[in-house]
Amino acid sequence: MPTTVRAYAATSPTDPLAPTTIELRDVGPRDVRIDIRYVGICHSDIHTARSEWGATRYPVVLGHEIAGVVAEVGAEVSRFRVGDRVGVGCLVDSCRECRYCRRGDEQFCTEGYVETYSSTGRDGRPTQGGYAEGIVVTEDFVLRIPDGLALDVAAPLLCAGVTVYSPLRHWGAGPGTRVAVVGLGGLGHVAVQVAAALGAEVTVLSQSLRKQEDGLRLGAGHYAATSAPDTFARLAGSFDLVLNTVSASVDVDAYLSLLDVDGTLVNLGIPEHPQSLDVASLLMRRLSYAASNIGGIRETQEMLDFCAAHGIAAEVETIGVDRVDEAFDRVVASDVRYRFVIDTTTLA
Ligand code: NAP
Ligand code: ZN
Ligand code: ZN
Repeated sequence: MPTTVRAYAATSPTDPLAPTTIELRDVGPRDVRIDIRYVGICHSDIHTARSEWGATRYPVVLGHEIAGVVAEVGAEVSRFRVGDRVGVGCLVDSCRECRYCRRGDEQFCTEGYVETYSSTGRDGRPTQGGYAEGIVVTEDFVLRIPDGLALDVAAPLLCAGVTVYSPLRHWGAGPGTRVAVVGLGGLGHVAVQVAAALGAEVTVLSQSLRKQEDGLRLGAGHYAATSAPDTFARLAGSFDLVLNTVSASVDVDAYLSLLDVDGTLVNLGIPEHPQSLDVASLLMRRLSYAASNIGGIRETQEMLDFCAAHGIAAEVETIGVDRVDEAFDRVVASDVRYRFVIDTTTLA
């Protein structure tokens, strides 16, 4: 029997999100049905809701920072039981056979992975995300939330957490490396904590000094405002790794000027419009310009366990679902400290 759950959906680029119901698929032998308790509002939800990445297929139930409790398991599920605390991030399926899937890097699946929303599931139905009371996901794409992490502050880690953890590990952030985090929002505030826990020397580059106290408390050693006239000249050549989490286009050449020899600027933000750069900015110090997309299931679990072990969590403002449109506007205005999380019991 399919389960019907309450949800909130985006129906056009401009209308407010609206209450709806969705039918979850039958729980198959390897499926887990999750009662969603909290879902984070990622800036990607807003880009999608507003068709900023091309035409969105409406209606769409957004949300890929999902935390909840297992409500039902299929007959062959071996890793989860009813009552377990679990999460779902941006991936809900992939081919499982290509060389990337086999090594646990489903984000590189050569067939294209199935996204939690705005995608077509392997059953041919459109996927629907976590602004809902429940979701059915195959057990291989369900994460275990460690005991030390409360569900509300764990939810944002399912996207923001792995999106910053993966490049920090890939580009070797650790003792002796100097990391700058551009933008202290959802991704940025987790990046600061993870980079500091890995032992890197962390600098926050924010539009203003308004969040300076928070940035230092989260683990940064330094904080600078990109709007101050001398910041770029003063910090020229002083980082090994710059993570750009800004949701809008930035002056790439200006951020490249902050890198030391062999340094890398990693773009994590996915702005609406293309960004360009001058190759001359890379040339003289053998710099790299890169980008990184989320992380695989294995790495997501590793990140959750790392965060629990190091006391890292998202700082959240919990809201009822009726405030989601106001929350979207506040995220776009950089007015969130540091992630909105929807309490899904307010869908009832
Ligand atoms: P967010 O909470 O809105 O944070 C972005 C931060 O960027 C803001 O808090 C603000 O920080 C800064 N910012 C915003 N607008 C700016 C502007 N016009 N100029 C300069 N700085 C600006 O968003 P998020 O959820 O962290 O997501 C950030 C971006 O990453 C989005 O584009 C999202 O789609 C993308 N994303 C990518 C991946 C991936 O896999 N690569 C995964 C998740 C999200 P300050 O106030 O400190 O300046
Ligand atoms: Zn996201
Ligand atoms: Zn694959």
